[in-house]
Amino acid sequence: MASLPTLFISHGSPMHAIQPGAVREVWEGLARDLPRPKAILIASAHWETDIPAVTGTAQPETIHDFHGFPKPLYEIQYPAKGDPELASRALALLKDFRATADPVRGLDHGAWSPLLYMYPKADVPVVQVAVQTALGTRHHLEVGRALAPLAREGVLIVGSGHMTHNLRDRGNGGIAPYALEFQDWVKQRIDRHALGELADYRRLSPAGVRAHPTDEHFLPLFVALGAAGEDYKAERQYDGIEMGALAMDAYRFTAA
Ligand code: ZN
Repeated sequence: MASLPTLFISHGSPMHAIQPGAVREVWEGLARDLPRPKAILIASAHWETDIPAVTGTAQPETIHDFHGFPKPLYEIQYPAKGDPELASRALALLKDFRATADPVRGLDHGAWSPLLYMYPKADVPVVQVAVQTALGTRHHLEVGRALAPLAREGVLIVGSGHMTHNLRDRGNGGIAPYALEFQDWVKQRIDRHALGELADYRRLSPAGVRAHPTDEHFLPLFVALGAAGEDYKAERQYDGIEMGALAMDAYRFTAA
């Protein structure tokens, strides 16, 4: 079975599910450029738990976890099957974290919105992974590292969050400079494998706290990085910014 890269995706607003804009091509290309995975393990910023958790159901429902959007968005279904066997395998790899399988939880828009474009036939089984916002960046690197063997077994590990995620501070027209500054700061650390600095982004990056008033949308990046192994090669696939300050960066991390 082919070893697969890991991915980080900025999933954008729920509206991307019906109006993807420029990122459509990016998401389609990410999947097209990879061997077909036997399953997808996707960590989404929109499922927050106290301890690591994975979806355990064989038929995950499509969760419409947003309010006040147009009706067609609530009619979208992403009918991918789950993969209880992969969920069990992930739990075994995460045993030191006391991880659990949630028998009910389905897929939220952080997972299904990009997957609609990556795998439009919904014919690859999907297991979703939760984030633990209270436990911070280093914890998510460790979770990623624990899950790394799955990438070598043909499972596509994806972190779905955002490069910048401040919905209240979008600058004064044009692109907010702090978003550009944070994109660059992160890219430099990714490229030189400075994961310790990256994990300390709130303290070290001048734009860190402004880019992420709360951590949760940045944490999936650490899962993807951890799962790619120490000697990854990073390729940024996209760096568009939407709505003034929402950086939509996508990365592919290939293990050495
Ligand atoms: Zn989101």
